[in-house]
Amino acid sequence: MVLQVEKRTYEAKTQEIAKQLLAATRENRSFFTQMRDQMRWDDKLLAWAMGNPGLRVQLFRFIDCLPALRSKPEIAAHLQEYLTDESVELPAALKGMLNFASPDSMPGQVAATTVATAVEALAHKYIAGENVKQVLKTIERLRKDKMTFTLDLLGEAVITEAEAQSYLDRYLELMAQLVEAAKTWTPIAAIDKTETEDVSRVQVSVKLTAFYSQFDPLDAQGSEERVSSRIRILLRRAQELGAAVHFDMEQYAYKDLTLSILKQLLMEDEFRDRTDVGITIQAYLRDSEQDVRDLIAWVKQRGYPLTVRLVKGAYWDQETIKAVQKDWPQPVFNDKAATDANFETITELLLENHEYLYSAIGSHNVRSQAHAIAIAETLNIPHRRFEMQVLYGMGDKLAKALVEKGYRVRVYCPYGELLPGMAYLIRRLLENTANSSFLRQSLEERPVEELLAPPVVGEGDLGEQGKQGKQGEQGKQGEQGKQGELGVPSGDKGAQGESSLSFSNAADTDYADMDEIKHSQQAFQSVRQQLGKTYLPLINGEYQATQEKIDSVNPSDESEVIGRVGLISVEQAEQAMQAAKAAFPNWRRTPVTERAQVLRKAAELMEQRRAELASWMVLEVGKAVREADSEVTEAIDFCRYYASEMERLDQGYNYDLAGETNRYRYQPRGIVVVISPWNFPLAIATGMAVAALVSGNCTLLKPAETSCVIAAKLTEILVEAGIPKGVFQYVPGRGSKVGAYLVKHPDVHLIAFTGSQEVGCRIYADAAILQPGQKHLKRVIAEMGGKNALIVDESADLDQAVVGVVQSAFGYSGQKCSACSRVIVLEPIYDAFVQRLVEATRSLNIGAAESPSTQVGPVIDANARDRIREYIEKGRSESTVALEMPAPNTGYFIGPVIFSEVSPTATIAQEEIFGPVVAVLRVKDFTEAIAVANNTNYALTGGLYSRTPSHIQVAQEQFEVGNLYINRNITGAIVSRQPFGGFKLSGVGSKAGGPDYLLQFLEPRTVTENIQRQGFAPIEGVD
Ligand SMILES: Cc1cc2nc3c(=O)[nH]c(=O)nc-3n(C[C@H](O)[C@H](O)[C@H](O)COP(=O)(O)OP(=O)(O)OC[C@H]3O[C@@H](n4cnc5c(N)ncnc54)[C@H](O)[C@@H]3O)c2cc1C
Repeated sequence: MVLQVEKRTYEAKTQEIAKQLLAATRENRSFFTQMRDQMRWDDKLLAWAMGNPGLRVQLFRFIDCLPALRSKPEIAAHLQEYLTDESVELPAALKGMLNFASPDSMPGQVAATTVATAVEALAHKYIAGENVKQVLKTIERLRKDKMTFTLDLLGEAVITEAEAQSYLDRYLELMAQLVEAAKTWTPIAAIDKTETEDVSRVQVSVKLTAFYSQFDPLDAQGSEERVSSRIRILLRRAQELGAAVHFDMEQYAYKDLTLSILKQLLMEDEFRDRTDVGITIQAYLRDSEQDVRDLIAWVKQRGYPLTVRLVKGAYWDQETIKAVQKDWPQPVFNDKAATDANFETITELLLENHEYLYSAIGSHNVRSQAHAIAIAETLNIPHRRFEMQVLYGMGDKLAKALVEKGYRVRVYCPYGELLPGMAYLIRRLLENTANSSFLRQSLEERPVEELLAPPVVGEGDLGEQGKQGKQGEQGKQGEQGKQGELGVPSGDKGAQGESSLSFSNAADTDYADMDEIKHSQQAFQSVRQQLGKTYLPLINGEYQATQEKIDSVNPSDESEVIGRVGLISVEQAEQAMQAAKAAFPNWRRTPVTERAQVLRKAAELMEQRRAELASWMVLEVGKAVREADSEVTEAIDFCRYYASEMERLDQGYNYDLAGETNRYRYQPRGIVVVISPWNFPLAIATGMAVAALVSGNCTLLKPAETSCVIAAKLTEILVEAGIPKGVFQYVPGRGSKVGAYLVKHPDVHLIAFTGSQEVGCRIYADAAILQPGQKHLKRVIAEMGGKNALIVDESADLDQAVVGVVQSAFGYSGQKCSACSRVIVLEPIYDAFVQRLVEATRSLNIGAAESPSTQVGPVIDANARDRIREYIEKGRSESTVALEMPAPNTGYFIGPVIFSEVSPTATIAQEEIFGPVVAVLRVKDFTEAIAVANNTNYALTGGLYSRTPSHIQVAQEQFEVGNLYINRNITGAIVSRQPFGGFKLSGVGSKAGGPDYLLQFLEPRTVTENIQRQGFAPIEGVD
């Protein structure tokens, strides 16, 4: 039954109640308390952070890193490094304290002790205890104040199955301990009873993703099965014990799957009548009102009520940054007022439907709580169906005031050790010190009318507008208000030039959206119906029959033929060369805007065929779905980026002076042979080919033999986009025969190659030989791989480092040129790191690339598999096998292998393996780490996990790699944002997707004209 009440009734009552609550939270503190607080460093730190955005960022970064620091000198050194950053304006007291000469000195030790103690005090404000004994004390204290609780176990990010199991086990044990303790608690009617029934004295709050280490919306079914099996155990045990369970809500990416899993579980016969379970809704999400409406409809069907905890949401900054980085629509509102208004809308919706959904209003905002009370009182809502919630340490006075008004108040109590609790602490600190936070504004004693005014929603957040719009436009609004606080850079692209500045990357598919998953499944079905077709070379605009054909097979199951591919003969290669020569004069004269238009059209076609192209890649080269999708994005970006880049370069530049004009312009080189690899069968083939084409060159594409079907799809797209005949030709053929013939051909001007070092060096040498009749020197662009290292130092966030190494080393089975194959770990954390890396890797699913649960698919073919096996044998003789995972027998699979205690000079630490094999090396300090990292023939990608600013600085200067990644994985470079390519034996040429790339396909010319005739020339400004 939905009751309709005049909105004004609520508003008048809201104001009245809010004023009372606010007055109660602002009661004067005793002189003694004020004095004591002024002396406390934890309060001072918070106050300074609020007054100085630069200090806020650096201080929170320091706090994040603090638990990893093992000694006082380390703490002192980091304090100095973080807080003496030029962005920080230090208050005098802190400046004085940090002015020590050496971290080992006495003043250094004093500073370390003072700040570490203050941070610990801060943590204790928000964390209800470090162990069960302490937390029980907290609970008893709360109960004395007539407040009940929900308990949350703080933990490291769950990245291994062992950790997921331990999370469940710890909750089972915790519930038993709490219930046992509860037997001794004196009953308190206000919180243990309602008009109609008893309320569980014990409640725990859990996070769904922590029940399965590979929780992934893309693998909805697999995640559901794994999570549900553990949650059933939890819910059964909770029922036996009489404890209630509440499910927290985490990041947006998990929201739909979380709701779907819980709805399915709670409909099962065994759990259908449970009313002591709760779900969380975050009002900062644009979807949230609809989610609540769906929940109401669903719970009506279920027939038994549940609790909804309504909160605003704890990940606003993270969601905003992610949306900006991924070019996805922003799931959260841009303006704080929109969140507040939505909170009120949902409060009303919940309370008006109190028979179906019990409300738990989680907020420290006096107005938000008062508004809920106003409705509850107006509608006379029974006590069982309505409670107020606050976080431990965040709203103590508000909680007391609410208790005094006779409401059931529940305090959310996180408990656990400080180290794993840091992420939680940082979230609270961010929230407390944000400009927009009610708590902060209240502390600043803003006028009551301002604090309690009804939220007014700005235009950017009205309706669904923002969510639907592309991030580029609507994201900016949100950034305006928050950027200073977040420290999100404004997109300053330095000296990159206009076209790069305005370049906007395509967006990957967001598989958190269930419709996208369905779309992807349909694409697979459609592609499967086309398997086994024949693909012929395209020569001079015609698909030509060939004598030789090969099967391209699915590496996940070699019995499945993806397509039959016609391979050209040397004679056909020559025909293609002649066709290219004939087409060149027209193509070079074609205006750049027209050439660019072909690329833009190709990008559009790829966007339309995105899911289909990704499916072909999954099946032909065994790349997992998400990574295949990102590759389509990269191919699209290459088309659009090079189109813009060529338009920029086409302007050339003029240098005119009196009597003389100088024109600097580019012309194409001629005929380009592109030899592309199988590991990025679409993106690299597209990138190299379209760069050549847009620069006015005629191009022959010879793809790797194992990825010819995808190259044929690219060909279809370029033809449909309008590429003229002879300008682009698709010439699959044997590398040793046709490839070599083309490389040595006297009419070829440039060879763009990506592949192994061995082949790259041969091409370089062959291309250098002047052939009879050849009137130019050939240019070679060769990208040839790496032996990429990731350094993990003692200050690193291990949660992040382990995940980053796993992704970098085992994503696409280690077959990316950027993949990590060496991890260099500092002595103090070596053993802990290896142990976690092994467990996290053991938790990966190995299987067919098509399966959404797969993290590690096959390697490309039998040759690759055998070669990798040889390296594994070599590794066994050189080092210790820390993990060797089994792999399926059909298909070309290799289970991930981790070698530990590897010497820097071992074969497996020096040679490129191109498989899921990683060597972990132990070093004594950071200087040695850099030396070991640089000690190979390659310089492609590298990475560092560190929270020590000076280490980050040294890596930036000394780590010899073309692409250095700090505190993130080292694969997945994005066009324009992270131009890609290396030096030393990793390759020759400028970075793909960067501002210099096209220059390689062009010849610059300067034309100087003397425009003076008989001493006369127009002079600007002179009549
Ligand atoms: C009992 C309890 C349980 C909780 N459980 C969860 C949970 O499971 N999941 C979860 O995510 N959070 C949870 N929270 C945390 C909660 O989300 C934050 O504490 C809450 O958002 C703070 O809001 P407020 O009403 O107290 O303060 P206010 O100061 O009124 O609101 C702050 C909130 O507004 C939002 N906001 C800030 N800036 C903007 C902006 N520019 N545009 C739009 N919105 C903005 C953010 O959500 C921010 O946290 C829980 C809180 C409580 C009390």
